Amino acid sequence: MADVPAECNIKVLCRFRPLNQSEIVRGDQFLPKFQGDDSVVVGGRSYSFDRVFPTNTTQEQVYNTCAKQIVKDVLSGYNGTIFAYGQTSSGKTHTMEGKLHDPHQMGIIPRIAEDIFNHIFAMDENLEFHIKVSYFEIYMDKIRDLLDVTKTNLSVHEDKNRVPFVKGCTERFVSSPDEVMDVIDEGKSNRHVAVTNMNEHSSRSHSIFLINIKQEHVETEQKLCGKLYLVDLAGSEKVSKTGAAGAVLDEAKNINKSLSALGNVISALAEGTKTHVPYRDSKMTRILQDSLGGNCRTTMFICCSPSSYNDAETKSTLMFGQRAK
Ligand code: ADP
Ligand code: MG
Repeated sequence: MADVPAECNIKVLCRFRPLNQSEIVRGDQFLPKFQGDDSVVVGGRSYSFDRVFPTNTTQEQVYNTCAKQIVKDVLSGYNGTIFAYGQTSSGKTHTMEGKLHDPHQMGIIPRIAEDIFNHIFAMDENLEFHIKVSYFEIYMDKIRDLLDVTKTNLSVHEDKNRVPFVKGCTERFVSSPDEVMDVIDEGKSNRHVAVTNMNEHSSRSHSIFLINIKQEHVETEQKLCGKLYLVDLAGSEKVSKTGAAGAVLDEAKNINKSLSALGNVISALAEGTKTHVPYRDSKMTRILQDSLGGNCRTTMFICCSPSSYNDAETKSTLMFGQRAK
């Protein structure tokens, strides 16, 4: 597979997972008809993206096609963001994380961790690198540090250059891919401890892994900074208007609000002509402000179920992706 061309700074990629066992047993139909490598037909309508990954695409192919270049760019001083959007169980976490310690099934984040250090070891030895990572989640518009469970409601501030950041969020210096993996494992286990049902919780919160890279030339003292946000979004499914009440309905409204704020920012950036980009409409878009659009690298994965059972959600997910084109 060739690399996705680099001329546009917002890329939208669509990935379909395979039918799972219970869908097969139930006799669900396989909906998508893949056309070339950038279109898919669902329910008689065709949707085009920068790339469409059919169900048999490997983790390695996904990484090589779209994330590899971002690592090079971040090491050259660009900021970037990679998102996964889709309903619960559509493959977001599989795409972003995968099976962390399995070389074939690991997803984008662990591959990025390996790739960063491979690049660094091959670079000018007069460059000194400082790499730090943070890991937090946004749930009901509250920012929770996944590396320090006592920090449950952090706020977004701006530094003197008006660059937004999460104030007080734990930062860990890392010097190898294994250390990055340890941080992810730690954050994930903290997340498990804090909630009773991890699957439900992860479908209702956005999880954000930040990699910050600073490099300095030891002789010239020239500095270069780049950062990369890796975002596994809350499930985009609509909660049925009749069944939901109370806390569940509040959660659903909150998710809906933050995902549409993101959609509005991305489509304003994709249009390119708008002078007003509504970053301030949600905490997430405020945090990501200097890592989206413009001179940044933004990639959005649109994750879809192939099952006829999820027909309506899949169409709505595909439409969300189309808005960013
Ligand atoms: P989400 O994070 O969107 O809720 P997951 O990534 O957890 O969804 O995926 C749901 C299930 O489907 C998991 O068991 C995952 O391993 C599997 N799955 C997702 N995408 C793929 C894929 N492309 N190939 C094989 N299995 C997948
Ligand atoms: Mg998930």
